[in-house]
Amino acid sequence: MRLKSIRARVLYLAAVFAALLVGSVTLATYFVVSQSMDASARETCSHIASFAAAAAQRLEGSSDAGAGAAGTEAGALQRALEPVTALFDGTQVTLWAAPGAGGGFREAWSNAPGARLRSPADADRALASGKTVQVKVGGGRFLAGFLSRADLGLWIAYVPVQASDGGRAIIEIVHDPVCQESVLDGARAPMVAVGLLATAIAILMMQIVMGWVLSLVDQVRRAADSIDAGQLDVRLPEEGEHEIAELAKSLNALIDRLRKRAEAQTRFVADASHELATPVAGIRGYVNILRAWGAEDPEMRDEAIAAIDRESRRMAKLCSDLLSMIRSEEILEFKHVRYDINAVAREVLANAATRYIDKHLEFLGPEEGPLALWGDPDRIEEALGILVDNACKYTPAGGRVQVSTRRHKDRIIVEVSDTGIGIPEEDLPNIFERFYRSDASRSKETGGFGLGLSIAKHIVDASGGMIWARSKLGSGTTFIISLPRNKQKGANE
Ligand code: ADP
Repeated sequence: MRLKSIRARVLYLAAVFAALLVGSVTLATYFVVSQSMDASARETCSHIASFAAAAAQRLEGSSDAGAGAAGTEAGALQRALEPVTALFDGTQVTLWAAPGAGGGFREAWSNAPGARLRSPADADRALASGKTVQVKVGGGRFLAGFLSRADLGLWIAYVPVQASDGGRAIIEIVHDPVCQESVLDGARAPMVAVGLLATAIAILMMQIVMGWVLSLVDQVRRAADSIDAGQLDVRLPEEGEHEIAELAKSLNALIDRLRKRAEAQTRFVADASHELATPVAGIRGYVNILRAWGAEDPEMRDEAIAAIDRESRRMAKLCSDLLSMIRSEEILEFKHVRYDINAVAREVLANAATRYIDKHLEFLGPEEGPLALWGDPDRIEEALGILVDNACKYTPAGGRVQVSTRRHKDRIIVEVSDTGIGIPEEDLPNIFERFYRSDASRSKETGGFGLGLSIAKHIVDASGGMIWARSKLGSGTTFIISLPRNKQKGANE
């Protein structure tokens, strides 16, 4: 596994994340348990203190109290408290006689003789108030307790006692919560073990999921590796409802588009070569005729020269069509300015009228007045030129060619119609394809290569518009262009 691979990075992240998550859950659990153990220790201490206070009170009212000797009193108290101390292992009970003037507390009895008074200040406080005072000493080192041994400290209670001789005493109860600490110590190991296990499972699961995702990515990568410029029939695996399948679908769509484009280019080169080969073959044939008979037969010579002239014109026209087609595909060259479509249409019609003067066609232009829109007037003039030229070519002498314009919502509609021969219905869907001619023999007569409409469509598409045709065989054709009227987003002026 490479150090900077996605798998390695996910492994680090998973380890850190799982350790943080599981560690904090374990610590939080330990904290909650130790808090409740501490509360239980406090409760136990206060129960013992209440029991001691009750025992002391009973003693004050009993016959032993009247004996007057502190020793007897202590003995009675000892007997009363013994069951409690036996019950709570590690609890130390001491009866301290209150100090006389200037003296300190004196031990009267203890279940652990020789003990020292832990907190004289709290003992004094209990004496002064006549109420039990309970304090905690030590403990609180939570993290150290988690890492080594639990330490809940000591709970200490001071219970004031009124001795029968008028003197006062204090019962000191020191409760060491060994039982609660041992519960915490016992819980630590399983908690750590469960935490480590959870961390390991989390890391393992992350790795399994990551391994699955990466194996899908690897499949896509291997399939993508097998694609080269010539082999675009590869399909990436798309099975499944996951994101990698979506990625594979998008890549497959991209491959399809590339394949279609590559096929279109191959077809285009083949068609263009074929179109160029025909006039070249014609010229070569007529040159051979000229060589063989040109000197003797002036009639044949003139015919051959006329044919060579015709074929070379055809070649020149094809070259110019190809050039304008290549130019039309350079989208970046499109301008974006405000212009008058009516002026452009009139200019195109005027040009056509001079070129087709012999056909005595009737030319009708758009209505008077400007109709403004945003776009590239030169490119739109080129597209309209192609449509008007076709209308003139495919309309018999004396027919009508018309360009009309109108505004429709935020679009401008331009219609180029003629009263010509029309286009068969089955050909209409194909006429915008390169080199498509609805009737080859007819087009040969008129000298077209089937490139004009594909150029016009490309220009209209690149201008953000649409183009389509309506036609009736024998009565005429109408090409409709719909162009956006307003400034296009992101267009350069
Ligand atoms: P061409 O140079 O052959 O005219 P185009 O791409 O301009 O090539 O047109 C493609 C075909 O569509 C033409 O060969 C012709 O058959 C048909 N066509 C185009 N415009 C018209 C029209 N106004 N009337 C009838 N047929 C048309």
